[in-house]
Amino acid sequence: MRIILVGPPGAGKGTQAARLVDHFRLPHISSGDMFRSAIEAGTELGKTAKGYMDRGDLVPDDVTIGMIMERINQPDCAAGFMLDGFPRTLPQAEALQESLASAGISLNAVVLIEVPDSEIIRRVVGRRLDPQTGQIYHINFNPPPVEIADRVIQREDDTEVTCRSRLQKYHSETAAILSFYDDLGLLRRVDGNCSPDDVARSVIRALS
Ligand code: ADP
Ligand code: ADP
Repeated sequence: MRIILVGPPGAGKGTQAARLVDHFRLPHISSGDMFRSAIEAGTELGKTAKGYMDRGDLVPDDVTIGMIMERINQPDCAAGFMLDGFPRTLPQAEALQESLASAGISLNAVVLIEVPDSEIIRRVVGRRLDPQTGQIYHINFNPPPVEIADRVIQREDDTEVTCRSRLQKYHSETAAILSFYDDLGLLRRVDGNCSPDDVARSVIRALS
């Protein structure tokens, strides 16, 4: 099964991906997580990505496409994958489509998690991550348990200013991929503005 999760920053892509990969037993490939790991490791890729991410800009297509293509060609992706946060531009979607077509494989579905802009800032600014497990929390909606409360971190780009810029990029760049996938008959829209359990149920329904 080859699935893509799309949605604005803070829509719940990572939260849902964590549940879905358990359900479908697929590798979870998050472009944002890959960039953050590269930054942490101090690689050239990380150095290139950091400036763009700190500003809330998209990392250039050639860098992002190269990173993801290399990843989905790994053996653990042979039977399928769940992409989270890629593609985010039309050239990225086209490059992925071309690469899959030339390998004779296709996508099963592109799930759009829809959340109104008015909800996004709250979600992003309150997001916290457990660096040890990668678990995603929210200071109000899903607070970290007391025993790990002092080790959770906030992403550097999860400020209100940067979030507004990411949201703007989502509308100006990423919205274009929705009609691309709709034309291919792959787009499934899911209401992301309800509890994580309800969203998970809707996603699974959309995929079955
Ligand atoms: P994305 O990967 O799309 O940026 P995340 O999964 O990291 O989004 O979620 C962003 C923030 O919103 C996190 O703090 C998460 O705990 C919270 N969140 C995710 N899904 C929901 C939901 N359905 N309702 C309320 N908060 C949510
Ligand atoms: P979110 O969905 O919460 O906005 P991500 O973790 O998916 O966050 O992405 C964080 C940042 O990483 C983005 O703001 C962008 O700078 C960069 N990034 C991630 N995926 C892509 C992509 N497909 N194309 C370009 N930049 C990306």
